Amino acid sequence: MVFFMKIGVIAIQGAVSEHVDALRRALAERGVDAEVVAIKHRGIVPACSGIVIPGGESTTLCRLLAREGIAEEIKAAAAKGVPTLGTCAGLIVLAKEGDEQVEKTSQELLEIMDTKVNRNAFGRQRDSFEAELKVEILDSPFTGVFIRAPGIVSCGPGVRVLSMLDELIIAAEQGNVLALAFHPELTDDLRIHHYFLDKIFNC
Ligand code: GLN
Repeated sequence: MVFFMKIGVIAIQGAVSEHVDALRRALAERGVDAEVVAIKHRGIVPACSGIVIPGGESTTLCRLLAREGIAEEIKAAAAKGVPTLGTCAGLIVLAKEGDEQVEKTSQELLEIMDTKVNRNAFGRQRDSFEAELKVEILDSPFTGVFIRAPGIVSCGPGVRVLSMLDELIIAAEQGNVLALAFHPELTDDLRIHHYFLDKIFNC
């Protein structure tokens, strides 16, 4: 089969296969033929109509993205309007500004979203937990799975806050870019992946 559209999941570190599966299931539900590709090296991002940066460990993720030359490609794609989704560590990677820990570890954030993040906002309290979330773009609650989760502590005027928990922003979007502190790929609920696909297919 020849696919005309590619959606890429950054696959150099972290929770990759769950996003690939979730995207494939969501595409199948829509009856849309698009290829979901795992991105391990440069040269693929420019061919993608959507990009997912998964959870993992943000220091490693930032380092490898820069080293492989993928960081620049994601920045260019996001600036061109390619829908981009960052979950958990992906939310950190997308941010413009980090916390002291980010400074200390010299993480090179992509600075795509006008956000300031606390890298382990929830991790310090409880390693992982689930919470029923009210998310602006959904008409009923979404079960958020949080694993050593970050949070957005502040954002610029161009950022739309989609959900908050314990006074932290845990879901936000800035135009074509969507960031979540939790892991929608770890639940069977595909509504957020569908929302992301809506951005790609403009519906
Ligand atoms: N807080 C982690 C970090 O700093 C991210 C955790 C996750 O992606 N599950 O990288």
